[in-house]
Amino acid sequence: MNEASIRNVVIVGGGTAGWMAAALLSRALGQQLQIRLIESDEIGIVGVGEATIPQIRHVNQFLGIDEDEMLRATHGTFKLGIQFNDWRRIGDSYLHAFGDIGLPLGLLAFQHYWLRSRQRGDARDLWAYSINAQACHANRFARMERVGSSPLTGIRHAYHIDAGLYGQFLRRHCDPRTVQRIEGKVVDVTLRAADGFIESVTLQGGETIAGDLFIDCSGFRGLLIEGALKTRYDNWQRWLPCDRALAVPSERVEPMRPYTQASARPAGWQWRIPLQHRSGNGHVYCSQFMSDDEAAALLLANVEGHALAEPRALRFTTGMRRQCWNRNCVALGLASGFMEPLESTSIHLVQSGISRLLALFPDCRFEAALSDEYNRQTRFEYEHIRDFLVLHYRATERDDSAFWRHCAQIEMPDGLARMLALFRSSGQIFRDGEELFTEVGWMQVMLGQGIEPARHHPLADALGDAELDGFLANIRTLIGRAVATMPGHSRFVAEHCRSAG
Ligand SMILES: Cc1cc2nc3c(=O)[nH]c(=O)nc-3n(C[C@H](O)[C@H](O)[C@H](O)COP(=O)(O)OP(=O)(O)OC[C@H]3O[C@@H](n4cnc5c(N)ncnc54)[C@H](O)[C@@H]3O)c2cc1C
Repeated sequence: MNEASIRNVVIVGGGTAGWMAAALLSRALGQQLQIRLIESDEIGIVGVGEATIPQIRHVNQFLGIDEDEMLRATHGTFKLGIQFNDWRRIGDSYLHAFGDIGLPLGLLAFQHYWLRSRQRGDARDLWAYSINAQACHANRFARMERVGSSPLTGIRHAYHIDAGLYGQFLRRHCDPRTVQRIEGKVVDVTLRAADGFIESVTLQGGETIAGDLFIDCSGFRGLLIEGALKTRYDNWQRWLPCDRALAVPSERVEPMRPYTQASARPAGWQWRIPLQHRSGNGHVYCSQFMSDDEAAALLLANVEGHALAEPRALRFTTGMRRQCWNRNCVALGLASGFMEPLESTSIHLVQSGISRLLALFPDCRFEAALSDEYNRQTRFEYEHIRDFLVLHYRATERDDSAFWRHCAQIEMPDGLARMLALFRSSGQIFRDGEELFTEVGWMQVMLGQGIEPARHHPLADALGDAELDGFLANIRTLIGRAVATMPGHSRFVAEHCRSAG
């Protein structure tokens, strides 16, 4: 610690973003920091955000959280991927399964061997070589690092969680010596006259809370980053046009699927997320093409089991803040931007924002080089996720509604255009640096959306026909055997992490 070290951190907002920031910062920096988290019960949290991606397991590891304990506390279930229905054409379905598919041979990625086999007349799809996909089809789950003693990687999982409970669970994992919760509504923000940095926030009762570093986790309103600092927002609706969502819980149904469902609808799409005590449902749509009443009726007509409440309406503008770190304020969660929940990336963006902040943790001089780097990396991450999401909409063959005809005309971001051209011509995919989605993720969505490579890599021809058939058959056999040993998802949950309520 030196004189310039940051000692006081003020977090505004107690949703998933606020409590995740408090828990991770207090664990990483310990008693060097005093963290005060201000939240308002009157305002509440957004309360959706129930599907995650496998990286969330790093949060558990870092905080020393037992996975089963977390799932019990959040009525959680396991997630092995997302099933996309009716996106390319009505009646079509594909998975974006987590984890690897097949096995590379030497330098060459697996898809080239599969493509070659297909060109020889083998009708099996790519997902025959994904253990996650096969477990999804069978509604089974088990923790499995490897497929038997083979080099094939095993199950890679994430969670479905009750969003209302997850933040509270993280709160219980904050060190009370470092983190203090303050109930109250921020009504004013005072900026330093000299440099426009945030000096303090004022609560409704008049109390003033000063800090060195402010973390804006106030949700869509972006109370500090936008309200006080006027950072401005890049609107991405021309790429991601949906701007509303309705969320409704419904009765739990069997089978309890180990995956999220995302089914395209005439002006957007609908999610189904299985939890232990209920299902989460939501309809994301574009208000230019559908009224709120129509959207609600469509949602309610498509929930499984009875709806347990009236649909809750949310409005959003897809995009991101021009700077997620501005002066002494870092925005996380919905305050930093939102790209709709199609690939369940928002909670992950909170997590990666916090780890980036820790890596670039400033002192009270707030050198611009640190915030510039933070903003550069954040934009890189956001833009690559955006391009991946655009792929789902843009590569559609649907023309049955004005919305889908509009989507087929969406301007293609450069990075996406490059990715598609390369895959179409040669079956090649290269992940761009540290971008979130892997080659395997891109490949599944491209193939699922009907993007077909013209050829495989010539190196795949080095294998004789019989060797190729044997190589592929062996992978299928190993995966089939491994999945047959797994219990049903419901049974696994009941035996390992059944919640009390
Ligand atoms: C329709 C929809 C579906 C989603 N689905 C997913 C998903 O499946 N997976 C995923 O990863 N993410 C999803 N998300 C995103 C996810 O919900 C959020 O990223 C996550 O919940 C974090 O929210 P937050 O903490 O930033 O904001 P919020 O939950 O809105 O919390 C804001 C906090 O700020 C406080 N606050 C606001 N103003 C004040 C004030 N003046 N004074 C004091 N306190 C204040 C509030 O009380 C609250 O505590 C979804 C989002 C939407 C809209």
